[in-house]
Amino acid sequence: MSLDHSWFTEAIPATGTAFSLKGSKLHSEQTPYQQIEIWQTESFGKLMTIDGCTMVSTRDNFLYHEMMSHPALNSHPDPQTVVIVGGGDCGTLREVLKHSEVKSATQVEIDERVTRLSEIHFPELCDKNNDPRATLFFGDGIAWMKEVAAASIDVIIIDSTDPVGPAEGLFGKKFYLDCIKALKPNGMLVQQSESPLLHLDLIKAMHQAMREAGFAETTLLHFPQVIYPSGWWSGSLAFKQAGSKVSRLEHADALDTQFYNRDTHAGAFALPTYVKKAIA
Ligand code: SAM
Repeated sequence: MSLDHSWFTEAIPATGTAFSLKGSKLHSEQTPYQQIEIWQTESFGKLMTIDGCTMVSTRDNFLYHEMMSHPALNSHPDPQTVVIVGGGDCGTLREVLKHSEVKSATQVEIDERVTRLSEIHFPELCDKNNDPRATLFFGDGIAWMKEVAAASIDVIIIDSTDPVGPAEGLFGKKFYLDCIKALKPNGMLVQQSESPLLHLDLIKAMHQAMREAGFAETTLLHFPQVIYPSGWWSGSLAFKQAGSKVSRLEHADALDTQFYNRDTHAGAFALPTYVKKAIA
């Protein structure tokens, strides 16, 4: 059966997989960095894609945004200064600002159009953009991290596109060295690290590069993400100081969330055997 033209399809020859949503295209533009499209789907609300890859849908974005922010922030003893690299849809920023101990949250997004389109099509994700603790900076996260004051950040969240195009340099040792310098002694980072089923080689390489750069410990968390390849996604955590990971579970229960709670926090860090071996 062939699909009619009102389907968005992300087909990935490298993995022999595809994901489709029925709907109609509302908007398409080429920015200096990438091709952005907005779709109205029949069952997942609005959908944003970048260079043909799914980024955010109205229906399932809470999974990614909650799990890329709360487990990391509740693994740090006192996350006051947070920097998000990428994250232009502002959903991660919104979750970070749910933590009252956060005093400043800076989003460093290379493509201002991602944010401007999100303000129009995903206003619910942008409702904290005017919080006095939030700063929206538009520029390259790699260049920004080189320049930021040493030992000034508690938690870095790398909420980027896949490791191609402008995001490629966010997945390597050189960038991790700049992150280590920017982090306070008990600081940490979390980075979206793709599918534990389809992209294990990338995950392995990231953890190796993080440790080679000087991070004392790394670990991984995983969570469902329906619109991403394989429907299963991960975040990789790296700690500057050994033994600095905490589990502030009492904070997990206090947050207004849909997926995240103390049980899903613990479950996200319970690793399948083959993943444990890959990042050992
Ligand atoms: N949740 C998504 C995923 O895992 O596929 C990521 C969504 S978020 C929209 C990704 C953002 O990273 C994009 O808006 C993109 O412009 C931004 N980005 C890519 N490379 C970047 C860089 N070098 N510096 C800052 N932002 C970057």
